[in-house]
Order: sequence, then structure tokens, then C-alpha cells
Amino acid sequence: MQNYDKLFINGRWVLPVHPASFDSIDPSNEQVITQVAAASPSDVELAVEAARQAFDSGIWSGLSGTQRAHYLHAIATEIRNHLTQLASLEVQDNGKPYPEAEWDINDAADCFDFYAKLAVELDTQREQDIALPDVRFHCVARKEPVGVACAIIPWNYPLLMAAWKVAPALAAGCTLILKPAEATSLTAIELGRIAEKVQLPAGVLNILTGIGADIGPALTEHPHIDKVAFTGSVPVGKQIMQSAAHQVKNISLELGGKSSFIVFEDSELDAAVEWIMFGIFWNQGQVCSATSRVLIHEDIYETLLLRLKTAAEKIKIGAGFDTEVKLGPLVNQKQYHHVLAAIERGVKDGVRLVSGGNRPTEFSQGYYVQPTIFADVPEDHPLWNEEIFGPVVSIRSFKTESEAVQSANNSIFGLAGAVMSKDLDRCHRVARALRAGIIWINCSQPTFSQAPWGGYKQSGIGRELGIWGLENYLEVKQITTFQSAETWGWYLS
Ligand code: NAP
Ligand code: MG
Repeated sequence: MQNYDKLFINGRWVLPVHPASFDSIDPSNEQVITQVAAASPSDVELAVEAARQAFDSGIWSGLSGTQRAHYLHAIATEIRNHLTQLASLEVQDNGKPYPEAEWDINDAADCFDFYAKLAVELDTQREQDIALPDVRFHCVARKEPVGVACAIIPWNYPLLMAAWKVAPALAAGCTLILKPAEATSLTAIELGRIAEKVQLPAGVLNILTGIGADIGPALTEHPHIDKVAFTGSVPVGKQIMQSAAHQVKNISLELGGKSSFIVFEDSELDAAVEWIMFGIFWNQGQVCSATSRVLIHEDIYETLLLRLKTAAEKIKIGAGFDTEVKLGPLVNQKQYHHVLAAIERGVKDGVRLVSGGNRPTEFSQGYYVQPTIFADVPEDHPLWNEEIFGPVVSIRSFKTESEAVQSANNSIFGLAGAVMSKDLDRCHRVARALRAGIIWINCSQPTFSQAPWGGYKQSGIGRELGIWGLENYLEVKQITTFQSAETWGWYLS
């Protein structure tokens, strides 16, 4: 096991100014994997200064997009070269099944390659001529990097969430500070080693591991940080908005969700079972876009519930390195207690429990929770309205399309939604009616670096991925030239 006791600041590995660390825990056995450096606000100062100097010096923003793309491709290659090591670290740190971890690491590499391509395109698309009604003026809109960015990420897709922010920020020409989640810091540190290996200029990417409550405010309020990009919970997102308001910082927020999957009566039952399960049990349901509430047409309701129960009870639960396993432990003790408490509340309130609802009895250690299905969930119950972020799905039946759409839209969130039917006209009508940023038709969850990602309502502000992800890290500057040989002639007329 490598060492994880240092921070990556200004291209060097340094101990925290006030030496401190926290345990990294393997959620499959509750054992300590290693110690991770815990940064304090003093380290924030050093990292922000390094990122600021690197930005202001032009060593990164002054490169062409093509030159920056060279580094991004090199990072992608190194991620792929270390696929097994990185995927294994994610399994140990997060608990997810190994094949899912490999999938995530490959996606992270692809994300760096994708933004390398956009960095190259930026060279020819940086300036756009703007037609003005007065020919004495010439105007261009020019895209420039926002400056120093701070990326704060959650624990559900550790390296992938880092890639979603680091890759576009670097492509745009920003320098940045990455703060991974306390529960899963290890692959972020490996990303620092990769940055070092590809000789990314010092100070361009700085990595601060630590406790969010201790260093988060120092980062988000720092006057030398221009942009805060955050993925995480709604309460922390609100705090970040407030603290970023002091300097009117550019922010983007990717927050939680309670997304609905509407299944019409003409759906293929096998496909419905597959995608409903993918929508809630993948990554142990710890997915912001999880379709954690399902609306099933009354004609197929009881049949599909039975099929789901049978399929859910066949899922092999266990540690992520077991090749048969499809459901690992939850990420940590806090999440485990949170999910079990949500289930217990449903049971106590008499909600119909179709399957699961407990800790599996075969494990003496590890944060395992059975895949859990509740049916006939009342619309005003927390199981229906609150994000659980675990393998718990809440199901209701519906009669009409408009009733299903209304029920799906009745939420403070608007991250995602899914609809299944053989009638594609109906699917597209429902897709347009749903108030959410991502809609899947006849599937749930597949995600591509090219397509926009983000939420309506309290699910966030802004979009990641695709060209939108790059624009998150760009300012637009108007440059207008007076090009007439004649004087303007107002004061000197
Ligand atoms: P969280 O508690 O909000 O933490 C997210 C990140 O913020 C972590 O790095 C955390 O550090 C840090 N943080 C905590 N307090 C902070 C503060 N006061 N200032 C600045 N940063 C602070 O969320 P989580 O429990 O890790 O993740 C689960 C939540 O994230 C769910 O609600 C889920 O829906 C959402 N999520 C959304 C998306 C999306 O794309 N929309 C993706 C994944 C997850 P520590 O870990 O050290 O506390
Ligand atoms: Mg961990």
C-alpha cells in the first residue's frame, strides 16, 4: 500500500502544516486501510496561493488548447495504465463491486480524452465574431478561463467525479484545488501522482484531502478562488452558495435527487425489471440520479412487483472483489445507519415491504443492506420524497399518463427521470413533460461524457459534461473595436 499521508501542493508532496490524519476504512470489513492526510485552513492557504500563482503566471492558461490536450491525453493514458490498481482502490475505499469500479475508471480516462478534444477545438473556437448593427464597430466574444477553481466532490464515484471537474477545468485553462470526500480519498491522491508523472506544471492541480467541515469554508470563501464546483448533498450545496456569495463567486452545483421511473403497461417485463434494478441497485443505490421511485401502470403492477421481488432476492451481496457480487456494502457507517433508519421508518409506518428491509444475516462485519422494495408508498411519506441514497426503491401504481407525470414532478428535486413504453411518441411526450435535467427512455442511468448532466430545482445549478462542462470553467469577454477613420463626434462636434 502506498502512502496517503501527504497533500499535493505546488507540484510537491507535503505533510499538512499541522500534522493530522484520518482513517480510510474498507466498508466491506470495517478495517482501516490506511491513514490519509487531513488538511487544515493553513494548507488551504498554501494550495490556493500555488494555484493562484500558477494561473496568474500563464504557465497553464497561456498554453494553447492543443498543448493542454497533450497533458490531458497523458493523464487518460496513465489512468488506463493503472486500471487494476485504481479500480481495486475504489473497491477497498468505497465498497463497490470490482467490475463497476473498472467501468468507472475507464469512464474517468475517457472523460480526460473527451476534454482534451474540446481543448483542441477551443483553439479555433475561442473567439466568435458578433455581427453588430453599426458597421463602425467590430466585436468578438472571447472565451477565457475563469481562473482558480475549487472542486469539491462526493464519495460515490471517487475518481470519476474528480475527472468530471478536473478534466474540463484543465481543458479550459483553469488551475485548481481538488478536495475529495473524506470517505474515499485514495484515488484522488493517485490522480496527484499521475499529474506528477505527466509533468503537469507545478501548482496547476493541487489536492487537499481532509474533512469538509474543517476546510470547506476556507476554500469556498477564499478571495483568490474564482469558481467553486461542487457535487454533494443539498444542505452542503446551500452552505456553499452562501459562502460563495461573499465574493459573488462563479458556482456550479450538482446536488441530490429523487428521480422517478414511469413504466407503462406495454413495457417488456424483462426489460422493465433489468432497468428498474439498474436504476436503484447499481452502486448500492448511492447514485444521485438513481430512479429511486417507480411508477408502474396498474395493469402490470402486481406482476411486475413479483418479478422485481424474485430478481432482487437473487442479487448476490458481498465484498466487491467477489466476482459474483452485484451489491457491495454501503460506503460508510454513517450512510449505513442513514439507510437503515429510512427503512425502519417505512416499516414502522406500515408501508408495504415487498422485499429486503434488513441487514443480510450472513455478514458479521461490513455495511451491508439488502436490496429493498417498498410498494404502495404514500405520496406524502419520506420514502417517496426524501433522498435515501441506498438500495431502497419506493413504488406506486398509476392509472393515467398525466397522473404519472404529475406524481413524478411533485418533488423538490429535478435531476433525472425515466420512462418505459413501446410507444415512443408517448415516451417523448412524457420526457418533455418531466421537470428534470436528464431523462432516459427505455433505460435508466447510462451516462456519456458528451451529453449534458445536471438538475432542475434543488438538484443543482449548471451543467457538467459535454461542451456545457467546459463552459462551466470559461468566462466570456466582449472585445469591441471602433474601426472608423472618422471621429465619433459627440463632444468634439
Ligand atoms: P456531502 O456531505 O454534501 O459531501 C460532499 C463533499 O462536500 C465532500 O467532499 C465533503 O467533505 C464536502 N463538504 C462537507 N461539508 C462541507 C462544507 N461545509 N463546505 C465545503 N465542502 C464540504 O455529500 P456526500 O454525503 O459526500 O454525498 C452524497 C450526496 O451527494 C447525495 O445527496 C447525492 O445526491 C449527492 N450527489 C450528487 C451527484 C450529482 O451529480 N448531482 C453526484 C454524487 C452525489 P467530507 O467528505 O470530508 O465531509
Ligand atoms: Mg472508505
